[in-house]
Amino acid sequence: MEAMGSPEEIIALIEGYTPTESDIALIKKAYTFSRRAHEGQLRASGDPYFIHVIATAKNLARYSMDATTIAAGLLHDTIEDGKATEEEIKTEFGEDIFFLVEGVTKLGKVKYRGRERHAESLRKFFVAMAADFRVLVIKLADRLHNLQTLQYVRPEKQRRIALESIEIYAPLAHRLGIGKLKGELEDAAFPFAYPKEYEEIEKFMNEKKEVSEQHIAAVKGSLERELNRQKIGIVKMSYRIKHKYSLWKKLQRYKHDPEKIYDIMALRVIVNSIEDCYRTLGLVHMFWKPVPDRIKDYIALPKLNGYQSLHTTIFTGDGGIVEIQIRTPEMHGIAEYGIASHFAYKETGDDGKISRGTSKYAWVDEFRELARAVHESGQFMQNLRMDFFKDRIFVFTPKGDVLDLPEDACPIDFAYAVHSDIGDHISGAKINGKMMPLSTKLAVNDIVEIITRSEAHPTSKWLDYALTTMARKHIKAYVEEHSLLNKYIWNRFKTAK
Ligand code: MN
Repeated sequence: MEAMGSPEEIIALIEGYTPTESDIALIKKAYTFSRRAHEGQLRASGDPYFIHVIATAKNLARYSMDATTIAAGLLHDTIEDGKATEEEIKTEFGEDIFFLVEGVTKLGKVKYRGRERHAESLRKFFVAMAADFRVLVIKLADRLHNLQTLQYVRPEKQRRIALESIEIYAPLAHRLGIGKLKGELEDAAFPFAYPKEYEEIEKFMNEKKEVSEQHIAAVKGSLERELNRQKIGIVKMSYRIKHKYSLWKKLQRYKHDPEKIYDIMALRVIVNSIEDCYRTLGLVHMFWKPVPDRIKDYIALPKLNGYQSLHTTIFTGDGGIVEIQIRTPEMHGIAEYGIASHFAYKETGDDGKISRGTSKYAWVDEFRELARAVHESGQFMQNLRMDFFKDRIFVFTPKGDVLDLPEDACPIDFAYAVHSDIGDHISGAKINGKMMPLSTKLAVNDIVEIITRSEAHPTSKWLDYALTTMARKHIKAYVEEHSLLNKYIWNRFKTAK
């Protein structure tokens, strides 16, 4: 078992806070329990299943999640795939951990079928389903390891999982502000989702890498000397090759003109205070000419997910172009671990050094508040509907695609949300397997099947209950056209007489 990783190894990966005695005891207990629950079970790779569980927990530790979440990560597959029962988890680990494990299990049942128009609904649905951001982070940590072992899975399934990771999971990691996890998910999925493009990028990066590294190393050396001379303390200065998937996305934006891509690598400068960040930026611009329109002040104007940093791109003077990112250690923590970093700092007690307005994290706090309320009342979807996604409901196609619609939407809205062709030919609707009138108000989790006939058409009556702009637009267009046609035929008829 030692070859798989011990509880100590998992604990050693936790950054940002020091686990207490009881944290350590909890992780060890979950480790032992999970190992027993997965005994004898194998992964598609032929490895013991428990390897996957350890890898998930290690990812969670790397993202500075708390002991409860790491323990839940160790237990995340014990009910669904292992031999444990819900009751056992409840009695051994309590309601909170059971809630997390159950949440991850539920999320596992939702699938993305590669239809772009449903991606946003599905992302929202994931957030709603998760009810607690810890459930999402466990699911993301679990997915990252599944991607890393994707070569053992059937080819058709490989592509579905890879696309789902890029369309649904990575944007969620981004929304949670865990930049590191977003990049890791995308890069692990990239070769399976777009094999040809992945190869191109690999080639492009390998060609550029060496020259890029020379330029950046030279800038690093000079800047280090200048900062020392000006007595600006350097916490850390480093550079790293950029994520492949995001580089590919960028290449597409620049219409495949690689000359416009400056930042295969970026130099990251971490200094002690906000003041030092601006002083460093000033120094950089004194020594190197900045590329116009590439200076970004995300300290004064943070990104929506809380990201803060100064960015500038400079001409190195010998033909090179280098991107420089300047930030404090706290900003760096947020950039890499996002919400998780917030979580870790909160757990250890805010030391006051972190200048973070609550407003930036308002949606996180909202989410947590709500999760607590929901958890206590047990009214899961109901409360979410009321509070988190005001006035939205989630309904399903018979194939399991998720659609989000306004509250009180009817099957007509549903049909048009699927496709205007379906909307224009509705003859009836089944809700949860039963024929229902088209005026029926849909409820959360309804499975809706639209029955179409080519000779069926919209009527003005539909406008009495269709709510969505899309449905109303199409119905009106049809009805108007139709009545004009009638008038025309009637007039022709009259004149003919
Ligand atoms: Mn799993």
